[in-house]
Amino acid sequence: MTFRVLTAELAHETNTFSRILTGKQAFRDRYVLMGHDAIAARRDANTELAGFLDVGHAHGWHVEHVLSAAAGPSGKVERAAFEWLCDPIIAALECGRFDGILLGLHGATVLDFSDDGEGEILRRIRAVCGEDLPIAITLDPHANVSAEMCSLADIVVSFCTYPHVDMRETGRRAGAILQRTMAGEIRPRTIRVSCPMLEETNGGRTDVGPMIARLARAKDYEKRADVFAVSINAGFASTDIADVGPTVLVTGQGDLAPHFAFAETIVEDIWARRHEELNDYLTVEATAAHAARFNPENGPLVIADYADNPGAGAYGDSTALLGALLDERVSNACFGPMVDGDTVQELHRVKVGEVSRVVLGGKFDPAFGGGPLTLEGELISVSDGRYVGDGPILGGLSRSFGPSAVLRVDGIEILIVTIAKQMLDLQQFKSFGIDPERKCVVALKSMQHFRAAFEPIAGRVIVCDSGALCTLQYDRLPYRNVRRPIFPLDQDAVRSDGSHL
Ligand SMILES: [Zn+2]
Repeated sequence: MTFRVLTAELAHETNTFSRILTGKQAFRDRYVLMGHDAIAARRDANTELAGFLDVGHAHGWHVEHVLSAAAGPSGKVERAAFEWLCDPIIAALECGRFDGILLGLHGATVLDFSDDGEGEILRRIRAVCGEDLPIAITLDPHANVSAEMCSLADIVVSFCTYPHVDMRETGRRAGAILQRTMAGEIRPRTIRVSCPMLEETNGGRTDVGPMIARLARAKDYEKRADVFAVSINAGFASTDIADVGPTVLVTGQGDLAPHFAFAETIVEDIWARRHEELNDYLTVEATAAHAARFNPENGPLVIADYADNPGAGAYGDSTALLGALLDERVSNACFGPMVDGDTVQELHRVKVGEVSRVVLGGKFDPAFGGGPLTLEGELISVSDGRYVGDGPILGGLSRSFGPSAVLRVDGIEILIVTIAKQMLDLQQFKSFGIDPERKCVVALKSMQHFRAAFEPIAGRVIVCDSGALCTLQYDRLPYRNVRRPIFPLDQDAVRSDGSHL
């Protein structure tokens, strides 16, 4: 029999501390692709949709793909934007007859009228399709998973990697479980155990540290006949909501008690090792001192500004690190991105090769990461900011920084952009004439994703906390809605909330 499956992708990671609300334009700036356009753009790349379609093709599904949409991490999603993207999914559901629903979501979406964006989507879908239609969702492990999400969706599968390089694989896993459910072979549901922490250490790195063993145990538990997926979510700390923090989910069936017990053992381990840090977070001064004396014999020094990562909703215009590198007279260096659309507009009126004076960055919220820098530099190039990725995460996908420019100030080539994005692909420098492999110092804004493409070319990687919006100094952020006590805001927090579904 041919199963009819409705698919959609709708993702936003919401940093509720950001002053920049997320409207329709923010989604247009990343992508809003309807039906066949989404398939054309995302079918042959490392995307959840590609994984859905792989399974659909293998099982002869009739797939109706509604849309794929995402915005860069930023503040709460405005109701108008949410309705605009959610309504077509509901309309398709009302018009058609389906055997299953398969959604690629994020899990840390906050709306200006609800703290649980994914829960809101799923509630609206259930209101149309009823209780019985199987729903499978994929999540980013930086999801803050609510109990309601797990009761509304039957099947929940998160990526197992950070840097995230298994989107397509995750789409396939969720699709395969949905196939078995539609065929009547299994009747999955998803249980959840949470932990009173803002996030798992360093967002749940999976290249080093304790997450490697946890994921191995999860894979092992998935071998049971009554278990279909185990998801270990690190949580997303820049979200001031009650359901913030790590969760372990088991999608299974039968007696749920062992599934809870298993999830509990993973959460206990997350809790027991909550004081561990996998990065050595340097101040901007210490970082610049390293840069000034670095020998690039084995490749450049790659500096990650963890706190100003636009990929977690920071503004991307923090100047603290750039200022320190300039003070140390670091040379043969590149720095990117600096998000400052106004400066880009000014530079687009200047001739390439001319020297220009700019007031750069530090404009969104100077309290986090420093105020504007007045600089004089030579304009190297201007562009529309478009690039096509060639790394493990973005390979084959088109993206844009919006109007952009490269300005050389002393020994540093600065990539100045309009649309905030984290650096996770070499093409984000190369497409604008900067070759990171030939630099002595490569300073970029990212927490962890950069490692997928930049570690292979790096002589050494160091991580800096510039004090920008995603700083690890959590006591500087005005948390009001998270449940208390919670680690690390409350160092004496105890894991006693027993937050079972
Ligand atoms: Zn993520």
